[in-house]
Amino acid sequence: MPEGPEIRQCADRIKRAIGGIQPHQVSFAFEHLKHYEPILEKKTVTQVKSRGKALLIFFDDDLIIYSHNQLYGKWYIKRAQNFPKTNRTLRLAIHTEKKSALLYSASDIEVLKKHELKTHPFLRNLGPDILDKETTYRLVLKRLKDKRFSGRQLGSLLLDQHFVAGLGNYLRCEVLFVTGLNPKLKPKQLSEQQLEALAKQIIFLTKQSYETKGITNDLGRVVLLKEKGYTRSQYRHHVFARNNRPCYACAGKVTKSVHASRPFFFCESCQPGCI
Ligand SMILES: [Zn+2]
Repeated sequence: MPEGPEIRQCADRIKRAIGGIQPHQVSFAFEHLKHYEPILEKKTVTQVKSRGKALLIFFDDDLIIYSHNQLYGKWYIKRAQNFPKTNRTLRLAIHTEKKSALLYSASDIEVLKKHELKTHPFLRNLGPDILDKETTYRLVLKRLKDKRFSGRQLGSLLLDQHFVAGLGNYLRCEVLFVTGLNPKLKPKQLSEQQLEALAKQIIFLTKQSYETKGITNDLGRVVLLKEKGYTRSQYRHHVFARNNRPCYACAGKVTKSVHASRPFFFCESCQPGCI
């Protein structure tokens, strides 16, 4: 499932393709949204943003297309009226003269007015988006100390979009690895120094992943590994999906287990207490 950085990159691609343009055709697969088609065709796309794992396409005046890909949705950007070869079902198409933005398989699509963003059942419960400029490590630190979150195990807390929006499973594993923490620990059990490091890495690794299209490993190390001929899947992460391979930091073994019902990858020696 794409995480915050991938959804933000997707929003950027859609914005580059159709931003600032009045589409000449908007098509929804869902009957209850079809009456919006002629309305949106008279409006200009003013902004495309992500909020956690949700995507928002703003049209001038007051309308916004909200979509959440869940596990199956996928956006494609194509030359106008070109469609990918796929067995997926097209759910939303926005065609301009030059480009088409196409959303397949997603079932979670709505048209909202601006004031409804605040009360939307998914959006209103989201924590601060890690990729927003206003989300500082101090804000994340404050939330780690908040009673709502400080008694929760890190392994599930980091996946909870109410805590912060945008972290998913690979970022959870990578953040816990670089901070040397095990997923069973709770924020209230950590020292001030550990809490600060955790808050900083939540922001740092998510931003790095957004800027590098998904790389969470140390970027200096990535250069060296590329020179050695490592493939992207080999150099991309510290530990995620690297089970049974040597840890880049200590040469110990990377192990796979399950935490909060999701696969969890860690280094036994860099993260004491994982087993
Ligand atoms: Zn290690």
